[in-house]
Amino acid sequence: MLYAIAENGTKIMPTYSGQRAICPGCHNEVGARCGHINVWHWGHLSGIDCDSWAEPLSVWHLRWQAYLASLGAEIEVNIERDGISHRADARMKDGLVIELQHSALSVDEIVERERFYQKMIWVFDIRSAYEKERFLIRTKDRYSSFRWKHAKKSIAYTTKPVRLDLGGGEIFRLKKIYPDAPCGGYGHWAYIPELHEQETKYA
Ligand SMILES: [Zn+2]
Repeated sequence: MLYAIAENGTKIMPTYSGQRAICPGCHNEVGARCGHINVWHWGHLSGIDCDSWAEPLSVWHLRWQAYLASLGAEIEVNIERDGISHRADARMKDGLVIELQHSALSVDEIVERERFYQKMIWVFDIRSAYEKERFLIRTKDRYSSFRWKHAKKSIAYTTKPVRLDLGGGEIFRLKKIYPDAPCGGYGHWAYIPELHEQETKYA
């Protein structure tokens, strides 16, 4: 995670290896991991993240979180429901949760998260599919259709709004996906310059 709680109660980012703080979710001790390869983050001293939904922090997450923060979102928010707590990647002021998903999810995991967050939007990282032309957009018009080779098919089981991150500030707002081969569908293509800027910043 990117933020932990310091002794004085403030939210802090890790600044040096060996630094200690408290996890806002489980209140156990976390240590700063400031290496050369991974994004600097906090890790539980126990070695196990209290949130089973946690994904390793990537530069992709940071870029999105920076962009969403510029829109007024709160980053890494612990949300509790029925005694269970999960760390949402970002939450807008109106309560909308943005779930940033880099790795693949099963259908069950998708259903479980939608049930938990309720008011949410998915952002799936499909940059490599777009780059390798496995995700092909036919026209970048008001309505764009696409073909998707080796699609992340579980996305077809989402019931909340989906944004596909194509990279370079390009976004696909998914409207319909047909999971059967050849996988395709339609939606809206958009370019977000601010998102592209964050990408350059965190390159
Ligand atoms: Zn924890």
